[in-house]
Amino acid sequence: MSEQPATPSLEEAVPDCPRCQKPQPLCICDSVTPVESRTKLLILQHPQEQDRGLGTARLAAQHFKDAVVRVGLSWPGLTKALGRPVADPARWAILYLGSAKASDLDPEAEVIALTRKGEAAESQRAILKSIEGVILLDGTWSQAKALWWRNPWMLKCQRVILGPRQPSRYGQLRREPRRDALSTIEAAGMLLGALERRPDIAETLNASFERMLARYREVEQSHPELTPRPKPRKNQDRRRPKRSF
Ligand SMILES: [Zn+2]
Repeated sequence: MSEQPATPSLEEAVPDCPRCQKPQPLCICDSVTPVESRTKLLILQHPQEQDRGLGTARLAAQHFKDAVVRVGLSWPGLTKALGRPVADPARWAILYLGSAKASDLDPEAEVIALTRKGEAAESQRAILKSIEGVILLDGTWSQAKALWWRNPWMLKCQRVILGPRQPSRYGQLRREPRRDALSTIEAAGMLLGALERRPDIAETLNASFERMLARYREVEQSHPELTPRPKPRKNQDRRRPKRSF
């Protein structure tokens, strides 16, 4: 019996882009327009976040010169997570939805700063004006929750939530059961754009996201093996946001 050399499947043979870590046919990195922003960006990704096709953390980070993406479950503090000293974690906003709903607190606001009790903080404007960096948690609902509970230092940061005007552009590709659940790249654009009063930041990131989704849909037709839809989760997770904080 002679052994046949193993033929690699197309999925194995197609290299990943080192920047976005997507299979090359799904990569849109060459079209990314750099964005100047004074607010820093840190994205913490749960290690089980495996959605290479539709994930947006690395694409979002690529727009900003010194954005940081870290994969892990816990860090001793913000300085370690970021890899450089942070004088005052309270000047870093962390987006964590939890059970809070922007529409209940202030239907008009794009960004709401919360107290530790999950209520709208007083002097919103002063708080939001003082923010120098933002932290996003990248993963499913339960993964973001795990990151939140495993990193108690996050309580020293300024928790914020978003009140998006429209549902996520993922549409049918990845259902967001909560209207206020956005992709990581949409959340980055909305949060940085609102904090800096720079609608162009949100426009640039949303345009990149639209290009990523358009490419995904093309590749889904030509190479379906490269675009497996995320598997349905267990009962408990199915109705939860796939992509919130
Ligand atoms: Zn790429």
